[in-house]
Amino acid sequence: TNARILETEGKSAVTFKDVAGLKEAKVEVMEVVDFLKNPEIYTKLGAKIPKGVMLVGPPGTGKTLIAKAVAGEAKVPFFSMSGSEFVEMFVGVGASRVRDLFKQAKSKAPSIIFIDEIDAVGRSRGKVNAFQANDERESTLNQLLTELDGFGPNTGVIVIAATNRPDVLDKALLRPGRFDRHIYLELPNKTEREEIFKVHIRQLKLAKDIDINSLAALSPGFSGADIANICNEAALIAARHKKQLIKQSDFMEARDRVIGGLERKSKIISPKE
Ligand code: ATP
Repeated sequence: TNARILETEGKSAVTFKDVAGLKEAKVEVMEVVDFLKNPEIYTKLGAKIPKGVMLVGPPGTGKTLIAKAVAGEAKVPFFSMSGSEFVEMFVGVGASRVRDLFKQAKSKAPSIIFIDEIDAVGRSRGKVNAFQANDERESTLNQLLTELDGFGPNTGVIVIAATNRPDVLDKALLRPGRFDRHIYLELPNKTEREEIFKVHIRQLKLAKDIDINSLAALSPGFSGADIANICNEAALIAARHKKQLIKQSDFMEARDRVIGGLERKSKIISPKE
C-alpha cells in the first residue's frame, strides 16, 4: 500500500545528550525549550513568543535530531512532515494535510511541528519554470502560510522547519511572525566529530584498540549522519567476521565503505580544518 505515514505524533525520547557538537545551535534551541516549558515568563511581560524557527544546514548535520531533542527536553508532542514526500505523495490533498497537522498540534499544545525539507514546498514561487510549475506545491505552501498566520504567538505551538537550501525559499516564509529566526548548523570540525563518535559508540561493544581521535582525524568533511553510519557499519562488519568485539580495523573498513558510498552519491568531501 502507499499509505505512508507522513505525520507522526509522539513523545520524543531524544535529548540534548544525544546531540554532539552544535554548541551554538543548542544554546539557541534551548530558548525554544524554555518558551514551551515556561511560556508565562514571556507572556507576562507582554512578549510574543516566536512561532517559527528555521534550521539551516547541510544534509546529515543533525537538524531532525535537534528538533526532536527540543521536543524531548520540553516533554511535548512532536508532529512531523517532510516537504518533499508531501508534495509527491498526496496530489490534491497537500493543503488539507497541512490543515490537519496544525489542528492536531494545536489540540495537543504545547507541541512542536517539524517540517523537514521545507524547500520542497517552500521554493520561491517565481523561480519555477513552466515544466516545474506545481499547483499542488503552491497550494500546500499557501496553506502553510495561512496556518502560520492563523494562530496566535502564544498558542504553545512552535513550528521548526529544516532546509539545506535557504537560498531558494519563498520570501513570504521568512517574514516576521513566520520563520524569522534562523539557526545554522555546520559540518563538524575534528573535535566535534570526536564527540559525535562518542555518542554513537555508546551502545557498541568495543575492543581496547579503538582510537576515536584518529577516527575523527581520518573523517574530514563527514557529517554526523556519516559518522553514525560508520559506527553501525563497523558493528556489522565485526559481526560478519564473527568477532566478539569491534576493532579499530572494522571502523577503518567501515569508513572506506562510507567514503565509497559518498563518492557514488558524488558528494564532495572537503576537509573543513
Ligand atoms: P537531512 O538534511 O538529510 O534531513 P538532518 O540534518 O536532518 O539531515 P539528521 O537526520 O538529524 O540530519 O541526522 C541523521 C542522523 O545522524 C541522526 O539521527 C544521528 O544519528 C546522526 N547525527 C547527525 N548529527 C549529529 C550530531 N550532531 N550528534 C549526534 N548524532 C548526529
